[in-house]
Amino acid sequence: MSQGAASAAVVSVGNELLFGETLDTNAAWLGRKLATLGISVVRGYTVGDVAEDVGWAVREAIQVADLVLVTGGLGPTPDDLTKVAVADVLGRDLVVDDRVRESLQERYREQGMEDVPPAAYDQAYVLAGSDPLHNAEGTAPGIFLRSDETMIVLLPGVPRELEDIVSGSLLPHLERLQRNASDRVWHHVIHTTGIAESRLTALVEERLADVPDEERLGVRLAYLPDLRGVDLRFTAAGPSRDDAFARISPLMQSIEDVVKPYRFESDSGDLAEAVNQILREHGMTIAIAESCTGGLIAKQVTGIEGASDVFSGGIVAYSNESKIDLLGVSSADLAEHGAVSETVATQLALGVADLMNSDIGIGVTGVAGPSGGTEEKPVGTVWIATSLGDEVAATMCRYSGGRAAVRAKAGQAALAAVYRRLVDATA
Ligand code: AMP
Ligand code: MG
Repeated sequence: MSQGAASAAVVSVGNELLFGETLDTNAAWLGRKLATLGISVVRGYTVGDVAEDVGWAVREAIQVADLVLVTGGLGPTPDDLTKVAVADVLGRDLVVDDRVRESLQERYREQGMEDVPPAAYDQAYVLAGSDPLHNAEGTAPGIFLRSDETMIVLLPGVPRELEDIVSGSLLPHLERLQRNASDRVWHHVIHTTGIAESRLTALVEERLADVPDEERLGVRLAYLPDLRGVDLRFTAAGPSRDDAFARISPLMQSIEDVVKPYRFESDSGDLAEAVNQILREHGMTIAIAESCTGGLIAKQVTGIEGASDVFSGGIVAYSNESKIDLLGVSSADLAEHGAVSETVATQLALGVADLMNSDIGIGVTGVAGPSGGTEEKPVGTVWIATSLGDEVAATMCRYSGGRAAVRAKAGQAALAAVYRRLVDATA
């Protein structure tokens, strides 16, 4: 098997995964979890509830990884055939495990049943020579075995059960797989928003081009975009976080000035958390008037614990009448400039801050689409205004994507605008 960090392969089993009814969150969770233990997932396979396909994937996985994790197909129903398929690949029998049988009997007795129903009794079967892994969240135990050099682990598909087993009874086995502590992988993430991935990549790579390979010290950089922004993830292997960070730090320094205008500080990666934090530091409150985002921003802000300290309230002013009646937007300006305009966004921000007696106001008005666009204001046009006392800053943005994307991007941009103003105010 490979030198260096231990490697893993994940085999996800279930027709629902192929049909797209269920997202393979188990593979994602395992990837993250194993990375914290210094084990890299090098391949993933998704197969249906077909014994041959499960067997194929497991055979392939054994060739490339020190650790093979199979998730799904461990339950008592006829489509659960992971055990049979893996037993076949390894040439092992399925045998009743007395410990599992007894704990099954106990579980059913607790529920007032005399014996284990025949279908559920299947769960007492394990591969010969394997160890069951206790499942505190359900009846199907995990199964742990070794085949030559490879560790093979069968796990139930229910995420709660899988996570319980991996973090509980499997953990000591995984720790043994870490060959030495310097294999551990550490990440450091810089969150950015308000800059497109292509532009950020170009700026950052231009800087990094000046850093010779030997000064990169094995640090890798990944760009992870989503609707909210782009995360820059630095990765280094090493015995401790400090050790890894000492090597990541110079690279971060070299891109500091290009990233700074877009960066925000938040453990969770949620900009609303960063806004909450900075409002708290300044002892300020915010109020929000939303049109096209329909309450999305208020939802994000109130999703953060302790929001009541910094959030006064929000109004979804969708119709012109509500903008006029609730927030004091001028009907003449609405008629002259339209609802999606700098002046209306400005009046929304000032109006809601005044109404709620807040330090900061946000006003957002735009064309979310898919209909309602004009040549002058195509779908995706959004005006975002932020007020800080009497001072208002407004910007027009043009977003691509469908209705959901336009709304999400506008919400993120509004939060970013507030965050940036408060950062600049302190600088
Ligand atoms: P199973 O262990 O195959 O009976 O799976 C039980 C349930 O767990 C399925 O109905 C899915 O809802 C869920 N599940 C199975 N595999 C996965 C997976 N890879 N990621 C997330 N959920 C899953
Ligand atoms: Mg299944």
